Amino acid sequence: MAAWTRVTGKKRTRQFGVTMGSGILVCQRVGKSLKKKLKFPVTCGSKEGILHKDRYKRGEPCILSDGQWFTPNDFEKFGGKEKNKKWKISIMYSQVPLLTFIQEGFLSSPSFKIKRLQDQEPECGKKLIRTRSNTKHEKNSVVSTVMPEEDSLVIKRVFRGDTFEVSCFRGQGVLHVSRFATETCGKCIRTQDAWLTPKDFLNQNKAEGHWRLDITSRSYSLGKLIMSRVLEPHMVNCKCPICTEDPLHLLDQKNDDVCFKCKHDGDLVCCEKCPRSFHHHCHKPVLEDDMIGDHWTCCYCKAVTAKRNRSS
Ligand SMILES: [Zn+2]
Ligand SMILES: [Zn+2]
Ligand SMILES: [Zn+2]
Repeated sequence: MAAWTRVTGKKRTRQFGVTMGSGILVCQRVGKSLKKKLKFPVTCGSKEGILHKDRYKRGEPCILSDGQWFTPNDFEKFGGKEKNKKWKISIMYSQVPLLTFIQEGFLSSPSFKIKRLQDQEPECGKKLIRTRSNTKHEKNSVVSTVMPEEDSLVIKRVFRGDTFEVSCFRGQGVLHVSRFATETCGKCIRTQDAWLTPKDFLNQNKAEGHWRLDITSRSYSLGKLIMSRVLEPHMVNCKCPICTEDPLHLLDQKNDDVCFKCKHDGDLVCCEKCPRSFHHHCHKPVLEDDMIGDHWTCCYCKAVTAKRNRSS
């Protein structure tokens, strides 16, 4: 646990900075060994299991324990740590939480992410309107209107994907459904240079508006998409990492979940300045661990800075 807390909040990139303490170096050694393994032993509470990486990457039940396959979530329950609701912290390898290895790029961030929100936080998936900042206006336009089932089916068919383009006044972005939680939690809209919450996206483009009405996609407002359950706001008291604004998760939200170059997930290095993330080998130049410090910026940001320096 000590190693994990030391990493927290200190680092922006998911790679080790050379300035880290010795606890981290131990971790790095363990992490490197883990990276090469196809399967490795994990523990949660008193339970032991073997995590199979191929299954893990595919988002399948991947931990074999007592002759049964478990998802990380279920293994957390099996180990009696379900109260944590954070398997990345509850499940350990060499007494270091898996989160550390994920953050440091030794283990991919698995696709359980979305599933996890669904099966761990049943209240999350329900369509409920967050009341904290509801205005009268919002109540009238959203809560009191019931959308006919056929309409909502049509809309659902149009918005089948995990992402869709949104606009607000002149602003453009792409909304990622799995990142959406509420107006102020969950940076779900990727603009050209940042990840924003719906509220931030609105403020950036049209300060005097309402996010449910003024952010639209193919002429449907987000309010309409919520009514037809394309988007499902999390509850007021939702305990998921997005809504609790878990600092690690917040940091994670600032950058893309997939590599900017190849569009796949895995061990990604996050740029400090822009929302891009990269695999070591996809970045030009290819990244070595010792090139990545605490405030690493990507080749695109470096090029912009260089250009600015030349012209000034
Ligand atoms: Zn939530
Ligand atoms: Zn890549
Ligand atoms: Zn960058």
